[in-house]
Amino acid sequence: MAELTPMMKQYFEIKDKHRDYILFYRLGDFYEMFFDDAKLASRELELTLTGRDCGQEERAPMCGVPYHSAESYIAKLVRKGYKVAICEQVEDPKLAKGLVRREIVRMVTPGTVIESSMLDENRNNFLGCVFSAGGRIGVCFADITTGEAYATGSDSWGEILSELGRFGPREVLVGGEAAGEAQLTAFLHERLEALIEPMPEESFDADAASKRIIDRFRVTDFDAAGLTELPQAAQSIGGMLCYLEQTQKSSLANLNSLQVYQQGKYMEVDLIARRNLELCETMRTQEKRGTLLWVLDRTKTAMGARLIRQWIEKPLRNPLHIERRQHAVSALFEDVIARGALADELNRVFDMERLIGRVVYGTAGARDLRALCAAIEHLPAIREEASRFGTGLLRELTGRIDLLEDVRVLIASAIVDEPPISLRDGGLIRTGHHEEIDHLRDLASGGKGEIAAIEQVEREKTGIKGLKIGYNRVFGYYIEVTKSNVSMVPDHYIRKQTLANCERYITEELKTLESTVLGAQERLTALEYEVFVQVREAVGAEVHRVQATAQALATLDVLCALAEAAAENNYVCPTVDFSGRIDIRDGRHPVVEKMLADSLFIPNDTVLDNKENRTAIITGPNMAGKSTYMRQVALITIMAQIGSFVPAAAAHIGVADRVFTRVGASDDLASGQSTFMVEMTEVAEILKNATKASLIVLDEIGRGTSTYDGMSIARAVVEYVTDTKKIGARTLFATHYHELTALEDLVPGVKNYNIAVKKRGDDITFLRKIVRGGADDSYGIEVAGLAGVPNAVIRRAKHVLADLEATAPKPEVRAVESKEEAPQLTMNELSGGAVADRLRAMQVDTMTPIEALNALYELKKLL
Ligand code: ATP
Repeated sequence: MAELTPMMKQYFEIKDKHRDYILFYRLGDFYEMFFDDAKLASRELELTLTGRDCGQEERAPMCGVPYHSAESYIAKLVRKGYKVAICEQVEDPKLAKGLVRREIVRMVTPGTVIESSMLDENRNNFLGCVFSAGGRIGVCFADITTGEAYATGSDSWGEILSELGRFGPREVLVGGEAAGEAQLTAFLHERLEALIEPMPEESFDADAASKRIIDRFRVTDFDAAGLTELPQAAQSIGGMLCYLEQTQKSSLANLNSLQVYQQGKYMEVDLIARRNLELCETMRTQEKRGTLLWVLDRTKTAMGARLIRQWIEKPLRNPLHIERRQHAVSALFEDVIARGALADELNRVFDMERLIGRVVYGTAGARDLRALCAAIEHLPAIREEASRFGTGLLRELTGRIDLLEDVRVLIASAIVDEPPISLRDGGLIRTGHHEEIDHLRDLASGGKGEIAAIEQVEREKTGIKGLKIGYNRVFGYYIEVTKSNVSMVPDHYIRKQTLANCERYITEELKTLESTVLGAQERLTALEYEVFVQVREAVGAEVHRVQATAQALATLDVLCALAEAAAENNYVCPTVDFSGRIDIRDGRHPVVEKMLADSLFIPNDTVLDNKENRTAIITGPNMAGKSTYMRQVALITIMAQIGSFVPAAAAHIGVADRVFTRVGASDDLASGQSTFMVEMTEVAEILKNATKASLIVLDEIGRGTSTYDGMSIARAVVEYVTDTKKIGARTLFATHYHELTALEDLVPGVKNYNIAVKKRGDDITFLRKIVRGGADDSYGIEVAGLAGVPNAVIRRAKHVLADLEATAPKPEVRAVESKEEAPQLTMNELSGGAVADRLRAMQVDTMTPIEALNALYELKKLL
C-alpha cells in the first residue's frame, strides 16, 4: 500500500484522537473535511464533495468551507447535534520548516458554543452533568457564555429529572450509575432532545473533583458551600470541569461562580406542570407568546431576559426570600417616574455578561470591546437612578454596580470609535495610544512627515528652493529638480529619469525610506493586532468585576420588569407565608386575560387550605372555564413565589412546595404510551410525590376508560389526596362526573364548586363565574352544537340521551366501606425474619443473573 502524504498522516494522527467529532482541518484560507466527515458534511451542509490526492490510489473525499464564514457552518452542524473539532495551523506557514504544525484549538458541542450566532441572547445555554453512585445523584449545570454554574443533589430521580427540565441543557454528560439509568436516557432524548455524552469513570474521581472545584471556584469550605452533604454533586462538577478542560482548551476564566443549592430551596414545578401551565413556552407551538414569561418579561437587557426565565423556572419557597424580592418590586411599582428612568438607562446596555465571556475566551473583536465600553458608559446613570431606591435588595444591588471606570478608559483610549470587523487589517488602535503604531501608520500612509522632513533638509543642503520629493509606481520615491538647477545637484544623487524640463533622482536615504514605508503597513497591522490582544487581555483580567456588575444589572432589570408588568396589568402584591392558605379575591388568568384583549375576563375567588377546604371539586359545562380557572390558581401561586405581583384584587398565598398538574388528554406516542397510560402515569407520580404543602391541579381524570372504571379511579384519587393521613394537599379537581359532587358529604375537606351558565331553551350563556355547589349537567350536546356539529347529529344525540336517561339507572355515589387489605410488611418489619437473614447473606456483587433470579424466587417462597 502506498504511503500517505505527510499532511494526511498528520490529519489521521489528529482525527484518531477525536473520532466522534467532525474535524475542521485548517488548510490555508479553508477548513477542509476528509473521508467520512466530508461525506457527512457535504450532505448536511450541501457542500460540493471533491477529492484530494492523499498518496493512496484513490483520492480522499474532501469538502471545505472558507475560514471566515466557518461559524455559520459549524452552527448548522451543532444544531443538528454533531460535535465539531477545530484544528488550526499553530505556526506561521511562511516560517514553518516543512509541514505546518496543527493542533485542535477547541471543540464545539451543543452545550459549549460561545459564538453569538449560535446562541439565543434571551436564553442561557446550559451544559449539564449527572453523576450517581450508591443510589445518590448529583447534577450540575454551567453556562460558559455567562459563567454561571449550579449544582444540587437528591436520591430521587424524579427530582433530578425535574431539575434537568428546569435548566433545559442542550448537552448532558453522564457517569457512574446514571449511565445505565433508562428513565434518564429516555428523558434526555425524548423530552429535552439533548445530546448525551457518556463520560469515563475517572473523570468523576472525588479527589480530583475537589481540587478542580477549589481551583476554579475558589471554594475553600466545602461544608459551608453545601458540598460535603452532596458528594455526588461535587463529583458531577468535577466531571463537567474535566470535560470543559478537554474540549475548550482555554482558561474559561469567566466560569467562576458556583451556586450549590439543596432540594427544597425552590418550588418544584416538574416538566409536566411546566408544560401544562405554559410557563415559558406554549404547549403546541413552543412559542413564548401566550406564556407567563410573555406576560412578565418586560426586561430591557438580554441579561435580564435570561434571568427572568430562570426566576420563572425556579420560584422560591421561603417567604422571607420572596418578600425581599416583593419589597423591591413594590418600591419600583410605586415610583413610576424613577422606574421609567431606570428602565430607560437599562435599555441602552448591551449584553455585558456574554461580551466579557467572549473577551476571556479571546473571541471578542474590537467592536465587542467598544460595545462593552458603551455599556460601561451607562453605569453611572444606572447607579444614580437605582440609588433613588434606598432600601433592601435594591440598595444592595446598587452597591454591587462597579462603575468600571478603569476598564472604560482602557478601551476608550486604545480602540477607535468605529473599528472594523476584521482584526487582521489594522485600523483598530486609536492614534496617540501607542507611539510605534503612530509612527508606522504615518509611514504606511506614504510617510508624509518623513518625506516633508527629508525634502526640507535636501533643499537646505543643496540650496535648490524648488526641490520636490515625488512618487510613482515605476521608480518609487524620487527627488525632482528643474533643468535650470541641475548644476547644483550633489554627486550622491543617482539620476533615474529625464523629463522635458526636469530631472529625477534617488538617494540611499530615499530608498531606505521607501522600503520602510512599504513594510510599514504589514508591521502596522501585526502590531495593532498585538496591542489589541494586550488590551483584550487587560480587560479580561477584570472579568469578576464585570460579571458582578452584569448580574446586579440583570437583577435590577428583572425587578423593574415585574413592577412594569404589575403596573401594566393591574396586579397586586400578595401576602406570602407558611399558613397553607390560598385566598384569592377576584383572581384572573394572567395570559388568558391578555389574550382576550377587548372582551372582559371575569375574575373569580379561590379559597384552599389545609383544613376544611383541601379539595375543590369543580363541575360545569364544557367550555365554561374550568381549566382556565384551575390554571389561574396555579399561576397566581407561582407568580407569588417568584416575587411578582399577581392578577387579583387581593391575594394571600401560603407557599406551595410543589405544583402538580394533570391536564387534558395527551398521547405520548413517541414513548409508546396510550392516552390513558400517560394519564395514569402522571397521576401515579403525583400521588407518590405530593405533600401536604403541595398544590395539585387535576383536570378530568379517568376519562380515557369506561365510565365506571374512570369514575371509580377519580373518586379514589380524590379521597387519597384529600385524606390528611395520606396526602392532604390543596387540590383543584375538575370533572364531568357530576356524581362525584356527592363526595362533599362523604369526605371531610371536599367542597363543591361549579362554573355558572345561564340556559334559555337550547341556548347556553357562559357566565364564567365560579359558585358554590355542584353542576347538574355538562351541556355537552349543546356545546357540540356551538362547535358546529351538524344539526342532524345533535338532534339524534338528544334522542339517544333522553332514551338513556329514561332506561339506564344513574350511578350513585355513596359511602363505600374501605376493605383495605392488611398493608404489606416493610423491609424494616421483616428485618428479624428469615427473608432478611437470607438477604443479608447474599453476595449480590458476585451473583450471575440466573442466581439472582433463583434467589428472588426463593425469597418469594419464604415470604
Ligand atoms: P372543557 O370542559 O371543555 O375542557 P373548560 O370548562 O375547561 O372546558 P376552558 O377551556 O377553561 O373551559 O375555557 C374555555 C374558554 O373560555 C377559554 O378559552 C377562555 O377564552 C374563556 N374563559 C375561560 N374563563 C374565562 C373567564 N373567567 N373570563 C372570560 N373568559 C373566560
